[in-house]
Amino acid sequence: MRFDYLIAGGGLQAGLLVLALRHRQPTARIALIERAEKLGGNHTWSFHEADVPTTAWPVIQSLITASWPAYRVRFPGLQRIVRSPYHSILSDQFDAVIRVAVERQGSLLRQGAEVASLTVNRVTLTDGTEFNGRCVIDARGSTVVTEPCGWQTFLGLEVELDSPWPDELPTIMDATVPQDDGYRFVYVLPLSPTRVLIEETYFADSPTLNPDHLRERVGDYLRAAGFKTWRVLREESGVLPMPWSGRTPTPAAPLRTGAAGGWFHPATGYSFPVALRLALAVAAVEPEQATHAATSLARRLGWRLRFARSLNRLLFRAVRPANRWRVFRRLYRSLPDTTLARFYSLEFTAADAARILVGQPPPIDPIRLITRPEVWSCPPLPR
Ligand SMILES: Cc1cc2nc3c(=O)[nH]c(=O)nc-3n(C[C@H](O)[C@H](O)[C@H](O)COP(=O)(O)OP(=O)(O)OC[C@H]3O[C@@H](n4cnc5c(N)ncnc54)[C@H](O)[C@@H]3O)c2cc1C
Repeated sequence: MRFDYLIAGGGLQAGLLVLALRHRQPTARIALIERAEKLGGNHTWSFHEADVPTTAWPVIQSLITASWPAYRVRFPGLQRIVRSPYHSILSDQFDAVIRVAVERQGSLLRQGAEVASLTVNRVTLTDGTEFNGRCVIDARGSTVVTEPCGWQTFLGLEVELDSPWPDELPTIMDATVPQDDGYRFVYVLPLSPTRVLIEETYFADSPTLNPDHLRERVGDYLRAAGFKTWRVLREESGVLPMPWSGRTPTPAAPLRTGAAGGWFHPATGYSFPVALRLALAVAAVEPEQATHAATSLARRLGWRLRFARSLNRLLFRAVRPANRWRVFRRLYRSLPDTTLARFYSLEFTAADAARILVGQPPPIDPIRLITRPEVWSCPPLPR
């Protein structure tokens, strides 16, 4: 049997592709091959309202588990509510929605099946099974990182509390906690009055994650908020690269998508806005044109992806770890809600980029500037 699309991997990028294809090409024959028994792994994926182009809401609406009208940030000397809606997808819902979207006549969902190799038109599994198709899409997630980068490390506990969490809004950065191991903040998602995801996060120089230590710190945060007991429902953790050099996506067939293909926001670690745009671009053309569509998108996003990498270079190479939180406080103090929304969605303008760089200067360490010459390379401008 020949498919229109053969998708290797069943994570965030693959799921968004399936939904976009079902929207634009409802009769497309899709084969999705995932090595785990569940699609989407164990994640909470969050995104900002502006990450979704207006016309794309019908594509992703069914994935959303929780929504809030705004979010908070907290720093020493600054508390702010950003009036921009925020949404989260939990992987159980993701699994249920994508499963239904794939399973149509002429399409195929294979779980517990490992892809061994793929070419422009063929996917081969480790058991020797071969599938042929008009377009092969590699969505197998992250690979070994070889380029120099900083790291976003985090561990979150979803907990059930005896009494309601005191805030109905999410806090996407609470940096009032003691700073160590780079920029440290706590991320809080109140999923229901008594069910909360609390995540210890670091923008660190090393990818080392110490789960016991981070679990303890989540406990400390709950105790500081006045809770004595809680029940842990779920745990998730991640180590994401925050690159400051290397290449932005260079599409070629078979099309490498998702985090492994460089389709993520380098300065935030969020994949959703970029993965969604790629899914929409690919679904808008015939299977044979997928690489061409991805190339056009990579060109459109190119300077913004490079600019975001330059910000990482400044953050990780020119600012002392203990001072990194000041960079974020400065951004949240000076940027209006609309600029922040465009920054997160990678739709910022050249004027936004200038505004991010100028104003009160970031706490750059002059010694670091002299001893690390690569910091001097100029942030790219739109072409
Ligand atoms: C815990 C966590 C939370 C995150 N939260 C957010 C967030 O809130 N917002 C956001 O935008 N980003 C978030 N990210 C970052 C980013 O969104 C994720 O890394 C995202 O899942 C990347 O999507 P992907 O499709 O490229 O890879 P993945 O979602 O990792 O999917 C890859 C899939 O391919 C499968 N696979 C791999 N190899 C094979 C093979 N050989 N054969 C078959 N299947 C294979 C894997 O099992 C997996 O299901 C988070 C990351 C983590 C780890």
